[in-house]
Amino acid sequence: MRLPQQQQQEEKQRQPQRRWQSAATCGDNGGERCAHSLLILGKPGGGKGTISGKILQDFPVFRHVSTGDELRQHVREETSLGIEAKKYMNDGLLVPDELIIQMVMDDAVDAMKKCQSLLLDGFPRTMEQAVALDKNIDVDMVINLNIPNETIIERISDRWIHPGSGRIYNLSYKPPKVDGKDDETGEALVQREDDKPESVQKRLENYEEATAPLVDYYATKGVLQTFSGTMSDVIYPEVKVWLDEQLMDDIEATY
Ligand code: AMP
Repeated sequence: MRLPQQQQQEEKQRQPQRRWQSAATCGDNGGERCAHSLLILGKPGGGKGTISGKILQDFPVFRHVSTGDELRQHVREETSLGIEAKKYMNDGLLVPDELIIQMVMDDAVDAMKKCQSLLLDGFPRTMEQAVALDKNIDVDMVINLNIPNETIIERISDRWIHPGSGRIYNLSYKPPKVDGKDDETGEALVQREDDKPESVQKRLENYEEATAPLVDYYATKGVLQTFSGTMSDVIYPEVKVWLDEQLMDDIEATY
């Protein structure tokens, strides 16, 4: 016998899939869109990862591509990309376009070929990346998180990670059970090199220069929705309502 909680969870997982499958079917759909690509734009430390996590829980059809997570994985595994990328990441600089575009595009094109919907988190971050993406993928939804700089600086200085797994803690709202230690392994937590104050300032400046112009770029295309605030828990319900509406439009267009 299934517990009511388990039943609820299963129902939650089924719902969005049912909708999306009815919105478009793969293979025999006469070249119509069979999947979606959703981007999350926002300042570093502005909650892109948190909001993405919540979206994936409610809309599990998305394949999540986080360039920051992928790069950190490369750094941990000391691949040639990781060794190169680390030089930029530690200084709070963007990794060069030619390295990052190839890394993402392989994943993104593979997902679209399989009619998998994509959630791109942290990409694109420059106009060149956006143009490269446009050549391969039709972006149809963009979430822009508009968070004040003061909130970001405060939040980042409270962020600590477990280097082995990438698990993230926040001293204010998600502290570890034991001070300075990972909940699962008991190993020491560290601050990301690029979360140190001098790097954070540089990352915010980079954002203004390289990434902020993308807000206008996607607004002009009519696919952008901005969500403003200081707390992901307050912003996310609005994101969910908007995403639900976008998906509903799909179903209506199908019938
Ligand atoms: P994030 O976790 O998304 O803040 O990314 C961490 C770091 O990875 C950034 O500060 C950059 O150095 C690098 N990075 C992530 N995504 C990109 C991107 N799209 N373009 C260039 N560098 C990136």
